[in-house]
Amino acid sequence: MKRFESPLLSVLGGYWDGAFQTTTADSFVVHNPATTEPVATLPKLGAHHATLAVRSAARALAAGAPDLESRKALLHAIADAHEANVAELARIITVENGKPLAESAGEVRYAVGFYRDAARHVDALAPRTLSERLRGCDWRIYARPAGVAALITPFNFPLAMLAKKLSAAIAAGCPVVVKPAEKTPLSAIALFGLLHKLEVRPGTLNLVFGDAPAIGGVVCKHPAVRVVSFTGSTAVGQWLAAACAPHMKKLSLELGGNAPFVVFADADLEHAADQLMSNKFRCAGQTCVSTNRVLVESSVAESFAARVAERVAKLTLGDGAIPGVDVGPLIDRAGYDKVWRHVQDAVNRGARVLAGGLTLRPDLGAGAFFAPTVLFGVTPMAVASSEETFGPVIAIGTFDGEAEAIARADDTHYGLAAYVFSGDAERLERVAEKLHFGHVGLNTATGPTPEAPFGGMRMSGIGREGGAEGIHEYVEWQTTPIGPM
Ligand code: NAP
Repeated sequence: MKRFESPLLSVLGGYWDGAFQTTTADSFVVHNPATTEPVATLPKLGAHHATLAVRSAARALAAGAPDLESRKALLHAIADAHEANVAELARIITVENGKPLAESAGEVRYAVGFYRDAARHVDALAPRTLSERLRGCDWRIYARPAGVAALITPFNFPLAMLAKKLSAAIAAGCPVVVKPAEKTPLSAIALFGLLHKLEVRPGTLNLVFGDAPAIGGVVCKHPAVRVVSFTGSTAVGQWLAAACAPHMKKLSLELGGNAPFVVFADADLEHAADQLMSNKFRCAGQTCVSTNRVLVESSVAESFAARVAERVAKLTLGDGAIPGVDVGPLIDRAGYDKVWRHVQDAVNRGARVLAGGLTLRPDLGAGAFFAPTVLFGVTPMAVASSEETFGPVIAIGTFDGEAEAIARADDTHYGLAAYVFSGDAERLERVAEKLHFGHVGLNTATGPTPEAPFGGMRMSGIGREGGAEGIHEYVEWQTTPIGPM
């Protein structure tokens, strides 16, 4: 079998007890989504290996929390390691995920920001003493590492989603067990190769992949694991929450979204169209903050849709490893079939196709290439209005007036990201307050940044990542009132 060659992937295995672990377990194959060719064969690790990884982390925890200076040094060393290997890490992301190389390089640099920013917050975790002697005691407040943290990540940003969690866990002093997605484990393996050279205390950093439910079962039950941080689908998040409930673990769940993109008639339509383009096609639309429903005030809807269709028609679809490609393939055939179903359903309900559509592109390769598509006249009843499409489809519907815009935009169980465009600053503030989403872009469709807390409301999750708040997910606060000696 052809194996992907990379100097960062000299050993393909899990990692615990401070070393890569080769094992005789079953194997599984990672495929290139653009060509469907196999790129690597990996050991399929399961409950036994997850237990070994958790024990390794528990031993590191028992050896004591690393001091604040060494946490900062490790965070910067990891950021440096990313920066020294941007091109090679990007090549690995593209071969396993399919996104264009430039996007992959952007992801590596985005990941760096989380390590650097977490390092800035570490000093704030030093013990502090209350200035008042309440109840006749001296009060000390400690930010204790919560315990071993299990970090479970999705396929769409294999390094960035890991960076959000790993940076915060290291800042808090927690040893980790990392579990990347089965489709995109190579970036994490490459990162562990780089981490190995940093000579961190054995057990601090551990890696397993393979049988997800078996690994999930271990981390949810094992008493040493005190934090389960997961990014992925709402269905798996619910499963993890239920599995953790009897064991009272700290849960951080970054789940699915159904982002509305609201354009009022008084908005700068050119700017809104540009922002939509920058938001929608990253990772072929497979991002949690990707616009899922575009809602445009009726009087400008045709004009806005035409602007968007003109831009979409210029996009180049293809293998992300080829220079000049703007949009890569979907991760697999199942993802493609879901997008197809959403488009077909919208068209059956009367939506017009302004670009793309149900056009097969076998000429581009064996991968699941879905043409960037614009649909106009998508109704609230369409599946694309209620379910996350996770593909390169802009589904445009219309509204009349602010009240309807708010009602339509907020009409979802999800609450991750929303975007609102208007020339009226007071309206923007008013609408944002009424939307139950953790991230509301006002005249911008930017996604999260390492410096700010990001996360979902409602079925989009629990907890936040980024900023000081993201680190607090891994901290147990302990107070020690000290009486007279
Ligand atoms: P997924 O199928 O839920 O998988 C995510 C991770 O969970 C993978 O590592 C997967 O492992 C693992 N997993 C699956 N079942 C498990 C179990 N029983 N126990 C433990 N781990 C388990 O999600 P995905 O398809 O990779 O990602 C897409 C979803 O993620 C979308 O809904 C998207 O909106 C969401 N997302 C949310 C955010 C956010 O910040 N809120 C960011 C990015 C993505 P295997 O791959 O090995 O099965």
